[in-house]
Amino acid sequence: MFTLIELPYASLAPVISDQTLAFHHGKHLQTYVDNLNKLIAGTELEKKPLEEIVKTSEGGIFNNAGQILNHNLYFTQFSQAPQAPNGKLQKQIEKQWGTLEAFQKEFEAKGTGLFGSGWVWLSAQTDGTLVITQESGAGNPVTKGLKPILTFDVWEHAYYLDFQNRRSAHLSALWSIVDWNVLERRYTE
Ligand code: MN
Repeated sequence: MFTLIELPYASLAPVISDQTLAFHHGKHLQTYVDNLNKLIAGTELEKKPLEEIVKTSEGGIFNNAGQILNHNLYFTQFSQAPQAPNGKLQKQIEKQWGTLEAFQKEFEAKGTGLFGSGWVWLSAQTDGTLVITQESGAGNPVTKGLKPILTFDVWEHAYYLDFQNRRSAHLSALWSIVDWNVLERRYTE
């Protein structure tokens, strides 16, 4: 039985309004959790780790499990008092993109340019090289053997109450709440 993650903060306003956070976490993510629990009730998947379900399933089970994994990574990467970039991840980003700003620009552009609903990801390959990828629907880079580090949700439910159609403005605002200590831990663990 999967449960809704608890948020490690009370608010992310004004970057993400309390109303958006309440709907996104308490309604959208809760629905994915409820749906997955119904779909796997009484099957062997009940005892499997979420990531394994995402890697091995399809259809409704994949969509709901993927959305839970994606949102768990998404919600836990933010902070009201975020740490600035530091450490090995920052060095690798600068090695590949030159500057943090150049990386952020490309990441935002890939998120803005993704057609329809989905996610933009920064992930690591097994040799530590970083890649930015777009996933539509509930896609997660673990299905391609990548290690997810950072993700921006570009489903309209993530920003429509606050930014309406201005997806690009929403993505660019998110940088101010990204906690780079979390990303560093994901990259180096
Ligand atoms: Mn979402």
